[in-house]
Amino acid sequence: MTSPAAAPAPTPVLVFLDPAFDDGRLADATKPQLMATDQGATRGDGVFESLLAVGGQPRKLQAHLNRLAGSARLLELDIPAEDAWRRAIATAISEYRRQHVPGGEATEDDELVVKLLVTRGAEGAATPTCWVQASAPGPAGRRQRETGINVILLDRGYDSEVGERAPWLLMGAKTLSYAVNMAALRYARSQGADDVIFTSADGRVLEGPTSTVLLAHLETSDDGAGGVRTVRRLITPQLDSGILPGTSQGALFTAAKAAGWELGYGPLEPHDLYDADAVWLISSIRLLAPVNHIDGKEIGTPELRRQLTAELNALYATIE
Ligand code: PLP
Repeated sequence: MTSPAAAPAPTPVLVFLDPAFDDGRLADATKPQLMATDQGATRGDGVFESLLAVGGQPRKLQAHLNRLAGSARLLELDIPAEDAWRRAIATAISEYRRQHVPGGEATEDDELVVKLLVTRGAEGAATPTCWVQASAPGPAGRRQRETGINVILLDRGYDSEVGERAPWLLMGAKTLSYAVNMAALRYARSQGADDVIFTSADGRVLEGPTSTVLLAHLETSDDGAGGVRTVRRLITPQLDSGILPGTSQGALFTAAKAAGWELGYGPLEPHDLYDADAVWLISSIRLLAPVNHIDGKEIGTPELRRQLTAELNALYATIE
């Protein structure tokens, strides 16, 4: 018996930022739209952002626009003002919903991936090429939020101070050059794992190829009144260790602090991951993916992972 073919993914919507079009210029994603000499294509020279829109509303938009501007500054790319991006994003989302969401009604679980892309432009061009793409998320991310993931540690080959010493490596920018990150994910899959946590040459925990590492520690102590006090601590690697500052981690930390969690920043080593009560890879599209095993060793217990993931998911849901 043959299984039914999966329905083809809906065609993405493209909106180019173009000074002649206030709200952006719609373009056909089934037709070529870039010059073959575009330095995004020929050199991976550019920056991007990926964000989630839920029920038609982009989440953490300001944080993504801030990081896009920061990445562009690091690459000396002069990009359009924030307003132009906001208008193009609104056009892309409303056009996607017009084409693909029956009735156009916003529902909580209708999710859309919105990418903001900037390249250095075609060879000889004076300005960057900038566009917004709205598309359907793949099924794997949603599944991994539920089932969790198995991860392997891979050496990134740089020490944790390289960002300071060698700014031309652009460690804190979200550049288009993701070939290495994608190769690491393929390597993980060839080893039977779902994802990767990079470590530095000096043995520090860094980040995933497309995500930030988070871990939780619960500490119980005597509360001095005959009861037990539990301190919940959420920890992430130091931001200055050559990793991308995650907008999801940043927003979750703010929400967790308000809910009484203590926060901590590395340095972290692999034993900190193994000793944690739970570890997650967190990012804007997949959100919190609980880590079940690292290099074959179980992290926490299924019950603890489930409880803590539910708690952090509830906090994350409060983020705009
Ligand atoms: N680190 C890297 C290398 C990433 O590519 C990403 C997201 O794609 C993240 C961290 C997580 O960032 P955010 O939470 O802003 O999606």
